[in-house]
Amino acid sequence: METRIGFGYDSHVFKPGVPLRIGGLTLDHPEGLAGHSDGDVLLHAVTDALLGSIAAGDIGCFFPPGDPRWKDADSAIFLKLATEELQHAGFRIVNIDTTLILAQPKIGPVAGEMRSRVADMLGLGIDQISIKAKTPEGLNLDHVAQCHAIALVERVIEPDELKSMSAVIESQRQLEDVVEDLISSVHGIPKKRGGLVYDTDDIT
Ligand SMILES: [Zn+2]
Repeated sequence: METRIGFGYDSHVFKPGVPLRIGGLTLDHPEGLAGHSDGDVLLHAVTDALLGSIAAGDIGCFFPPGDPRWKDADSAIFLKLATEELQHAGFRIVNIDTTLILAQPKIGPVAGEMRSRVADMLGLGIDQISIKAKTPEGLNLDHVAQCHAIALVERVIEPDELKSMSAVIESQRQLEDVVEDLISSVHGIPKKRGGLVYDTDDIT
C-alpha cells in the first residue's frame, strides 16, 4: 500500500469588521481574519496539506489571490477542489492533524464542533480529524492566526487502473461514433454530435 504525506501552513492577520471563520465555523469574536477569501486559516492549511501529499502545488496555483472570483469566497470550495485532485490521483485521506496558533478566541470549547464540520466537508469520520490549538507564547504575534496541518493519504486506485479506465472510456466514445456513422449513412439521419458537447461559458 502506497502512503504519502502532505504538510500545509497558513497565516492571516486579525482585522475588525469581518466575521471570524475558522474550520468552516463562524466564531463569536470582535475581529475576523483578513484575506481575499473568507480567511479560514485552518481550511487553507488543510487544503495545502492535501495538495502537497500528491505534489499538486498549492492553493495559490488553483485560486490566485488577485482573482476577483475568490473575493470573500467560502474556503470550503478550496477544500473540495483538493479532495477532487486527491481522488483523481487515486488517493484517499487516512487522517489529518492540525495545530492552530492564536491568542484569542479559545478554540478548546469549539474544537469538537470544528472537527465534526471539517470531517463532514471531507466525508470522513471525526476520529480522522484532529484540531489542536496553542497561544503564540513568546512570538509577539497576538494579532495573527497561524495554522499547521499534516495529512496522510493512501493509494486506493493503482496508476495502471486509472490508465485502463480512461482507455475504456475513449474506445466507448469511438465505438459510438462508428455506430452513429453507420446509422446516418444507411438511414440518412444526421449525426447527433454536431456542435460542442459543453457550454463554453463554463470554461473560466
Ligand atoms: Zn489563507
